[in-house]
Amino acid sequence: MKKVALLAFAAYLILAPPLSARTFLLGRSWNGRPIRSVEVGNPSGTRVLVVGCIHGNETAGIAIAHALERVAPPDIDLWIVPDLNPDGVAAGTRHNAHGVDLNRNFSWGWRRMTGVYASGPRPLSEREARIARRLILRLRPRLTIWFHQHLDLVWASGGDRRVEKVFARASGLPYRRMPQLGGSAISWQNNTLHGTTSFAAELPAGEPGAARVARYVRAVLAAAKAAAVQSP
Ligand SMILES: [Zn+2]
Repeated sequence: MKKVALLAFAAYLILAPPLSARTFLLGRSWNGRPIRSVEVGNPSGTRVLVVGCIHGNETAGIAIAHALERVAPPDIDLWIVPDLNPDGVAAGTRHNAHGVDLNRNFSWGWRRMTGVYASGPRPLSEREARIARRLILRLRPRLTIWFHQHLDLVWASGGDRRVEKVFARASGLPYRRMPQLGGSAISWQNNTLHGTTSFAAELPAGEPGAARVARYVRAVLAAAKAAAVQSP
């Protein structure tokens, strides 16, 4: 895309009002903060879920999530959770208000861990993880993308490589095959919900500018389109 067109698109994402967005309260964090989802696009299209933030000190994806609220993909039923960990964001920490890494609290391959990767006292002990699990089970999204920071790569682990590579190409983030992590939301979805796929987009450090936000938005839409075509 030419630079002028890209900047115009970036300005559109920032300035345009949400088109036919439907907002839902999914539940509340331990400290009572609302956790919301927004649905845009075509409700009978391919269902795709994007989570802007799970680790509270990795907030770059929130701007991308809000930009996605302003697109209206004609063939995609796009669900967006801008912030699954509002207590962590408020405190500027990776963990939730209980000191748990929500991305080690899911049930697949869960094991007890402490410190940075504190996994909680048992699988799904955390309210925020349960909210995400419930939403994913209800939606059964063909594709779920989780934004993280700041490894600067597409973290591909056990999902649909074709879809991941489409995202990598469109976003400019290098594609990397990584181990499946026990207790992660991605591993749980990839190993339990057949016919669906999930990966993490590890953004670079810092907050993305408007042009980068626009590029990641286009990458999400490209991956969603690729996911709509079932892999053989
Ligand atoms: Zn992370």
